[in-house]
Amino acid sequence: MNAPYAPGAVTGRLSPFDVEPDDAPDRFSLRDLMAEAFASTLDALVVVDADWAIVQGNAAFEDLLGLEGGGLPGQRLPDLLRLVPELRWPQPWRGEALLQDEQGERSLEVAITRIETPGDAAPQHVVALRDISERRRAEQALQRLALFDSLTGLANRAAINQHLAERVGRAVAAPFSLLFIDLDGFKGVNDAFGHRAGDLLLQQAAERLRAVLQGAFVARWGGDEFVIGLPDHAGDATSGDSALRDCAQRIIATLGQPFLVDGHRLSVTPSIGAVNFPADGHDAALLLRRADAAMYAAKAQGGNGLVIYASRLDDGAQRLTRLQGLLRNDAERNAFHFVVQPQVSAAGRTTGAELLMRWNTPEFGAVSPAEFIPIAEQTGMIPLMGRHALHAAARIANEVRALGSDARVSVNLSPRQLLRPDLERSVLQACQHNRVDPAQIELEMTEAALITDLVPMERLLVRLRRHGFRLALDDFGTGYSSLSHLRRLPFHKVKFDRSLVLDVERSAKTRVMLEGLVRLCSNLGLGTVAEGVETEAQFAALRAMGVDEYQGFLFARPQPQTQWIAQLRLELAG
Ligand code: C2E
Ligand code: CA
Ligand code: CA
Repeated sequence: MNAPYAPGAVTGRLSPFDVEPDDAPDRFSLRDLMAEAFASTLDALVVVDADWAIVQGNAAFEDLLGLEGGGLPGQRLPDLLRLVPELRWPQPWRGEALLQDEQGERSLEVAITRIETPGDAAPQHVVALRDISERRRAEQALQRLALFDSLTGLANRAAINQHLAERVGRAVAAPFSLLFIDLDGFKGVNDAFGHRAGDLLLQQAAERLRAVLQGAFVARWGGDEFVIGLPDHAGDATSGDSALRDCAQRIIATLGQPFLVDGHRLSVTPSIGAVNFPADGHDAALLLRRADAAMYAAKAQGGNGLVIYASRLDDGAQRLTRLQGLLRNDAERNAFHFVVQPQVSAAGRTTGAELLMRWNTPEFGAVSPAEFIPIAEQTGMIPLMGRHALHAAARIANEVRALGSDARVSVNLSPRQLLRPDLERSVLQACQHNRVDPAQIELEMTEAALITDLVPMERLLVRLRRHGFRLALDDFGTGYSSLSHLRRLPFHKVKFDRSLVLDVERSAKTRVMLEGLVRLCSNLGLGTVAEGVETEAQFAALRAMGVDEYQGFLFARPQPQTQWIAQLRLELAG
């Protein structure tokens, strides 16, 4: 072995090398063995003194540093290597160091061991070094792979989290804007043209975003959702907002161009929500959540636009925008179900049941129709949901008729549904499709539906009545109840609102009014229903007035249709 240094140089100075007594000259001493191992090991080893001056390095050490043997001893190791993290040399230590020289930057694994020297000689250290650049490079490549979305080549969700954590975590964090984009109409593309077309569209969308947003962090959150981190800005709200609006404009313009996929020209539009760091949140998760809420607000406004997060989107408004988004999705998937609440005669015989819509969301649990029906009205989803309700009612009516019962199924029509020119066709279709006679279906509407021009409404109701549908005026006694509606419009019955029923025991005036109304209705040939009857006392008072039908918790809660059908079967048998 042609070692370029003399093993003897360390003799007598390092105690571990001194384990073999000197009086064994005829054997290859342990000291020689150790010295030989030191010289020939592939790990770079260097012995340094208390001042980190090199006492002796092995061949691997010299190779690693590209040094010539002669010039080594006396040089200080910290002049050759930089330890990361910085530490006070010399100390026993294990970690990594960066080696910077003309070969570039290399990563080293470093172990520093203190060697006790006999007597009061200053301590020495053995420093073991290993080049782990290859391993680091491989790890980094893997990490890069884990941070990219394989479909679009954009940064993926993990990268977004990392990117944001890094930006918000800086000691002096600069303000920036974050955008959350969802493509309106993408689901339609997937459904109509298949997932492959959807994937191709996403790839093109990613490419366009990358092209128009140079200098920004462009990433795919998942599905058809993208996240954009804009470069740091000066910090005053106006400069941030104008950069944001400019960027949103570019996104809307580029994604608004049709996409050519498999010979089809497909269009989608972006709904963009934006937040500003640090004004809208200090941590990545909150920023993303709020950007998402703002995106939903943009969607609720019809899409193809930008909504910048404002704290009013929080709490109630945030719930509202979230519900709007969820409802839109669920209406398309028909993710609602229905229950029925029976109605009974004064004698307790079942006369029918009202269909009531139910909606469960993973995020908010069961949401009351009193909350989601108005949202469905505002967002234009009600006609779709209403059609589902009509079909559900007709299906149940079909089962009821199969039993031989003449009980009716009532279904609620919302004002917006009634204003649609295709309403008549929808209700007829539901009946035909389920082979039920319109006479089995009762259509309930509130007076809110009648505030528009009464003439066309009257015509519509007359036509519906001619088809055989039963018509009920719902929630009578709330809001502005108009006797002229009862006179002019062709209703079969009037449903007295729960608020009147609640007051029947408490208020003499309500009793007088109800008595008068019941008499009036009966004179006009209108049937009467009391809603929300909860107590025997209410029932007794209403019965004494001659109310025809009753609906309320006292008789039955809203229930699955199977339960009601079973109850009807029992009644018919008994
Ligand atoms: P509504 O048409 O007045 O329906 C009666 C409501 O009173 C139902 O509330 C029912 O569960 C509730 N109720 C019945 N008996 C009692 C009682 O004894 N005590 C009390 N406290 N409440 C009682 P629900 O199911 O929450 O529905 C609320 C409203 O949502 C309905 O009021 C109706 O306006 C609307 N809605 C429900 N389903 C549909 C639907 O399929 N389409 C449309 N357009 N609207 C619907
Ligand atoms: Ca109703
Ligand atoms: Ca009602």
